[in-house]
Amino acid sequence: MTIRHHLSNELIWAYSVGELPEAFDLVIATHVSMCDECRARLESLNALGGAVLEHVELADMDEDALHRTLARTQGVGDIRGRGKDAIRADLPGTPVLPQPLRDYVGGDLAQVAWRPVGGGVRQAILPTAKGATARLLSIPAGAAVPDHGHRGTELTLVLQGAFADETDRFGPGDVEIADEDLEHSPVAEAGETCICLAATDAPLRFSSFLPRLAQPFLRI
Ligand code: ZN
Ligand code: ZN
Repeated sequence: MTIRHHLSNELIWAYSVGELPEAFDLVIATHVSMCDECRARLESLNALGGAVLEHVELADMDEDALHRTLARTQGVGDIRGRGKDAIRADLPGTPVLPQPLRDYVGGDLAQVAWRPVGGGVRQAILPTAKGATARLLSIPAGAAVPDHGHRGTELTLVLQGAFADETDRFGPGDVEIADEDLEHSPVAEAGETCICLAATDAPLRFSSFLPRLAQPFLRI
């Protein structure tokens, strides 16, 4: 797998210190489980965080912050700890969903509770804390996601197949980081259904009326 689109340092850092909503953590843990380069960057940032902590005047930190920081450095009981297991968990039969996602779905693609969202596109919202939404998207080969803009940040990670939009082509392992400045209409490449994991922290802005009407029901 040749990954061409990686996480930004800002995202890896925010993940490392635990500042992201759970839905974004999930995208990042999943990408990191697929990508040696971002895993190495995360590990050096984690090490840096640990080193910084040793030099922090502990008295200056409130107790809560200290506990949170320690919990993060040790990766206790959260998804950041789980991401690492993914590397060792290459099961026979090569599942489509990497381990961090299989934990959310309770299995692989066969266990996903898909719902149609129109045009052959299906989605499954994953159970994450408020603040951002994570969904799996299944886009038939050649089909398009309606043209939309973004109010906040949208992270889209390709798990199978590929899509292209106004900016570039995104294949397995690639992550697209979209923000307010980008308006795009992703189209799945011919040949294979495109499966993506997408996280958004604000509703999308659709340019046509019909998706806008359906938006509250689809939570996109
Ligand atoms: Zn990467
Ligand atoms: Zn988008």
